[in-house]
Amino acid sequence: MPPATPLEMSRTYEASPVGPVASGGAAAREGGAALARPDAFGGVLAGGGLATRPGVERSAAAAPPAVIASDAGVIGQSDQLSVFRADLFGALRTRAEACRRCRLCETRQRVVFGEGSTRPRLMIIGEAPGAAEDATGLPFVGEAGQLLTRMLVAIGLSRADVYIGNVLKCRPPANRPPAPDEVVACRPYLREQIELLRPELILLLGNHATRAVLGTDRGITSIRGRLATSPEGWRTLPTYHPAYLLRTPRAKAEAWLDLKFAASILGLALPPRDVARPAAAEQEPTGP
Ligand code: SF4
Repeated sequence: MPPATPLEMSRTYEASPVGPVASGGAAAREGGAALARPDAFGGVLAGGGLATRPGVERSAAAAPPAVIASDAGVIGQSDQLSVFRADLFGALRTRAEACRRCRLCETRQRVVFGEGSTRPRLMIIGEAPGAAEDATGLPFVGEAGQLLTRMLVAIGLSRADVYIGNVLKCRPPANRPPAPDEVVACRPYLREQIELLRPELILLLGNHATRAVLGTDRGITSIRGRLATSPEGWRTLPTYHPAYLLRTPRAKAEAWLDLKFAASILGLALPPRDVARPAAAEQEPTGP
């Protein structure tokens, strides 16, 4: 059934996710053949038979791009416009850091505005800060953030190449899910961030980010891996939140498909495996 939301599902994988994908080093299987291989960010994913498309196949000869900042990104073509947008972005951060629009201002330690390139081709949006983020003021620095970093490395990117933010800029107490009125209160900051950064693609991590940006009530399981256009016209790709991947390693196979799809949309060649898999990424992450 087509979605009954403003979503415009314009593209899907040619192949469905692989069959059984066991966690912790067990074999993935497709077409009856054992196809498991270690994934690039610390788990197991399915190998041969995955959807392929130009620019997606990993090539040993292809070096990862150093940066993916766009010449036509947020700064635009003129220095004046560049300065203007940088000033607006700085002013937006200043406003957010003093914000008291919702109850979370009473319990936060730090406002977590976001970090990364201000000329990103890829923006990543999660749900809300956790304890580590609340303490440091930086997004995705806890265990899930470390997995996100490895996921980026797997497609040849560093955190500095992208912009990372959240729907909520302040931590909900005890990491509870965002309340609807908190999302409404905080959403203008996210909207301005996106409009100033102008990413080519937004990776939406998990249910809350997907629902906040796309205005859908569909679950991430049914919507992940498909390009969707927001009501504002932003091009997005929903996928699983790294915290979910830590709890559910078998979902990494689908997340890896989504990452490869994102890389292909941006025309990125995947790095050689030994580059994509630093020693730390070899270890299966444990759940929180
Ligand atoms: S979560 Fe957003 S709206 Fe609420 S106080 Fe923090 S910055 Fe303001």
